[in-house]
Amino acid sequence: MNEPARPGTLWLVATPIGNLDDISKRARDQLEACDWIASEDTRHTGRLLKHLGLDKRQVSLHEHNEAQRIDRFVELLGNGDDIALVSDAGTPLICDPGFRLVRAVSEAGLPIGNVPGPTAFVAAVVLSGLPTTPLTFLGFPPPKSGKRRRLFESVVDLAHTVIFYESPHRIGRSLRDALEVFGDRRASLSRELTKLHEETIRGSLRELVEVDHERSTWKGELVVCVAPNGYTEKLDKRPDR
Ligand code: SAM
Repeated sequence: MNEPARPGTLWLVATPIGNLDDISKRARDQLEACDWIASEDTRHTGRLLKHLGLDKRQVSLHEHNEAQRIDRFVELLGNGDDIALVSDAGTPLICDPGFRLVRAVSEAGLPIGNVPGPTAFVAAVVLSGLPTTPLTFLGFPPPKSGKRRRLFESVVDLAHTVIFYESPHRIGRSLRDALEVFGDRRASLSRELTKLHEETIRGSLRELVEVDHERSTWKGELVVCVAPNGYTEKLDKRPDR
């Protein structure tokens, strides 16, 4: 009697957010072992694979083709192929495509594995000097100021550290909206984490707006952390924190 075919596993594999040495051994091993690598940008992932000395079949999965790709991926997994999903940087699905695929694969009753690793907002909050729990991660705020402010207003009363991603050309306007909505809370701005020009600027939101004014242009990837509602450093001295 034939053995029933073993289904393949969808592996969610985190990759570095800058410094390629941050790839874990398990991530490399899993990338090597899988039959397919589903990547956001095959050329970008090709550079990582080259660095790791791996030559693997890649298939693209980005926000514009995720819905169309799902059936094919479920079929490949059903036929026993292992697929590793990676994004351009960090943890797949975090501000990157993949959750629809994870849902479809789980609904098909197929196995899903995770190889955790770097995520920019976690790296930023641990460098911020702000409380790390509870936290609310907003991803990228909307590009239009009105919607962005409404998003900030929806979390302004929370006693959570609030974190968001922003692009260099919108950071000035986002910081100004954050100052208007949150008031002059403590905050941090992290840039180019794990890379050569990594920096984290800590201060109040007004000070960050002033830094933006002085610099006028920003390079690289950015993460902003804003202190919780009602936060003062005195609270840090409480023994239960
Ligand atoms: N999946 C990624 C993660 O796990 O963080 C996030 C992908 S999202 C498309 C890209 C955004 O993440 C950037 O615009 C920036 O806000 C943030 N980011 C990624 N790498 C970063 C880095 N090295 N330093 C600072 N921010 C970074």
